[in-house]
Amino acid sequence: MSATKSSTADDRATPSDETAIPLTPHFIGGQTREGLSGRFGDVYNPATGRRARRVPMANAADVSEAIAAAAAAFPAWAAAPPLRRARVLNRFRELVDRHLTSLAAIITSEHGKVASDAAGEVQRGNEVVEFATGIPQMLKGEFTEEVGTGVDCYSLRQPLGVVAGITPFNFPAMVPMWMFATAIAAGNTFILKPSEKDPSASIFLAELLAEAGVPAGVFNVVQGDKVAVDAILQHPDIEAVSFVGSTPIARYIYETGTKAGKRVQALGGAKNHMIVLPDADIDMAADAAVSAGFGSAGERCMAIATIVAVGEVGDPLVDAITARLPKIRIGPGTDPNAEMGPLVTGQHRDKVASYLDSGEAQGATVVADGREHPLYKESDGFFLGVSLIDKVTPSMDCYRDEIFGPVLTVIRVKTYDEAVRLVNDNPYGNGTAIFTRDGGAARQFQFEINAGMVGINVPIPVPVAYYSFGGWKNSLFGDLHMYGPEGLQFYTRAKIVTSRWPDPGTSKIDLGFPRTR
Ligand code: NAD
Repeated sequence: MSATKSSTADDRATPSDETAIPLTPHFIGGQTREGLSGRFGDVYNPATGRRARRVPMANAADVSEAIAAAAAAFPAWAAAPPLRRARVLNRFRELVDRHLTSLAAIITSEHGKVASDAAGEVQRGNEVVEFATGIPQMLKGEFTEEVGTGVDCYSLRQPLGVVAGITPFNFPAMVPMWMFATAIAAGNTFILKPSEKDPSASIFLAELLAEAGVPAGVFNVVQGDKVAVDAILQHPDIEAVSFVGSTPIARYIYETGTKAGKRVQALGGAKNHMIVLPDADIDMAADAAVSAGFGSAGERCMAIATIVAVGEVGDPLVDAITARLPKIRIGPGTDPNAEMGPLVTGQHRDKVASYLDSGEAQGATVVADGREHPLYKESDGFFLGVSLIDKVTPSMDCYRDEIFGPVLTVIRVKTYDEAVRLVNDNPYGNGTAIFTRDGGAARQFQFEINAGMVGINVPIPVPVAYYSFGGWKNSLFGDLHMYGPEGLQFYTRAKIVTSRWPDPGTSKIDLGFPRTR
């Protein structure tokens, strides 16, 4: 099956009167399926505001079918030599590289982000695939000869079985790749439930996996919403659930999944602070704030949401950021000159814009208002220009809530200690950054800041694939971060074998607890 053809221009018809709208299907047991529920959702092109596709919303029967396919595929896949699984993933990695432009175009058409940004997320996801191709080395256990006389001890890491991933709209390729690459490499079989807002990248990935040689049933996609998620959480054959999304849902997934006896890692929302000390290079800090605040229209869990300006840096920094704003080129993600695209839905765009009103009403200063951008006023797409709100205080809604859009807020504090207290008191702890020329201050910061990912003069410190990704506090429910070494730990369990080969000469009865002899 050609991945390019069937997912970019899928015109499978449905029996309803909406046959003109193409359908993004499920992918179960190696086949695309329309599903059993008869319930469909709409997918929009954010740049035009038009409904572009429909997506079936799985019911419990659809989910059960996918889990049955994954369970049937598990024994053979788990028993395949790790090197064979690695080779399949290596072929997949090459296919993703080859189809990078097509995959990025699918992401742009449903998410809205500009093509270069979409390609960037695919490349970062593919680095996790590359890491996972090292699975033979990573599955090596430990061995101790002669732990007792004639007795050896060794460790194994084995796959869990059928595992599931539930993913957000903002990285429709990268976040699924964070999960399934390691899970599949380790010998598990996988059910992906992507965001219903931009579901088509998942099917493209499924087809590339099949083309690479992943057997039918090893990777499945069920499209849908809460109904599909709840069916996954309750199904007895799901061993583990990885989730990435907003904090309330992450908490729900963690509580419900663990109650049902599953292993769960649930990554939640964020409110990332960038502290700028008075000795920082103002131009470098302003460039970083603008890039990290407005890249992907602020719809990144590692976006900088709040600048914490320490001491006298406030005025020059706000001036430097403000000067950069009119130069940001906003347009459809397909426009090669655009640096920032629309937001994912009209409803989300309006919610983001509402923080400009509440910020002003609560006493902040709106320095730049994204609603003044011509595309906000004239386009049917979900565009919003970039906004800057200064003199924000911790009690304001625009600070307390995760806005998840192109709105940067600035809080001014007097001292470094006050800045650190602010970050540490925030309920989220995903990423944070400090900008300074003082190595001692940076070192103190990395020691005492309560966040999972820390940048020193780096505004978006997303760890490379051979470290692990995850926040602290309300940004992560569970014990293990995603991908890298912790991802491997999450998708495998340890088994310790103690062995003795028959030696009739040493055989005797001993009712005591086993001891080293
Ligand atoms: P979301 O929580 O609305 O949705 C995430 C997934 O959960 C989707 O697959 C969705 O279908 C499902 N879902 C939604 N409501 C549900 C419900 N009531 N019950 C069960 N399942 C439900 O998140 P989103 O809007 O798609 O993504 C944006 C959020 O994700 C932001 O909060 C962002 O910070 C967060 N995010 C976090 C990380 C991270 O690594 N910590 C990475 C990316 C995104």
